[in-house]
Amino acid sequence: MMFISTCAGCNEPGDVLCRRCRFSLVTTAPITTAAGVRAAMPFDGVARHAVLGLKFRNRRGVARQLAAVMVRRLLPEGSQRRSADLVTWAPTSAARIAERGFDQAELLARAVARELGVPCRRLLYRAHGDPQAGRDRTARLTGPAFRSRAPRPGLRVILVDDVVTTGATLEAARQSLLAAGIADVHCIAAAATPAVVVPRSERRLALAS
Ligand SMILES: [Zn+2]
Repeated sequence: MMFISTCAGCNEPGDVLCRRCRFSLVTTAPITTAAGVRAAMPFDGVARHAVLGLKFRNRRGVARQLAAVMVRRLLPEGSQRRSADLVTWAPTSAARIAERGFDQAELLARAVARELGVPCRRLLYRAHGDPQAGRDRTARLTGPAFRSRAPRPGLRVILVDDVVTTGATLEAARQSLLAAGIADVHCIAAAATPAVVVPRSERRLALAS
């Protein structure tokens, strides 16, 4: 393994995320998807490169950077931050983990937990026979099947994912946690695809063209 560090945003040699790209992330705005999930950034530009960087390289460093933005933007002092008992994640399919050797949602959840100073625990498992890829759109909208186990009833959990598209995965995971006895599940994501929510500025451009 080689340790030549390049910026996950622009690919220039240097920090895991260079000053310019960090600044670029700061200039984005958090968004709420149509499904009601809060995401720290649109899955676009530097944020998109950074999230893909989390999946494919510079993993932990990028996870730390993204987690810091998520906590600052989506979990202000007080609110869910104070009451959260645990951080968990919606696990990536076993096939994807086998392919990459790690689960980017887990890396992100662990980084968010570290930022918050609360434990991170695996509470969700993919149910068997759930090849998310290759399912038709209707099946994908219902989300993958999860099994979950609550360590004790009444816990308040922050559920983390990297990218939200339809929100179906997070919703399926949330329902599974609630069914297992988790009292409160607060879903947050690093990024949401612009296909879900069109920023106001782009909506205006679309109208003008
Ligand atoms: Zn950069």
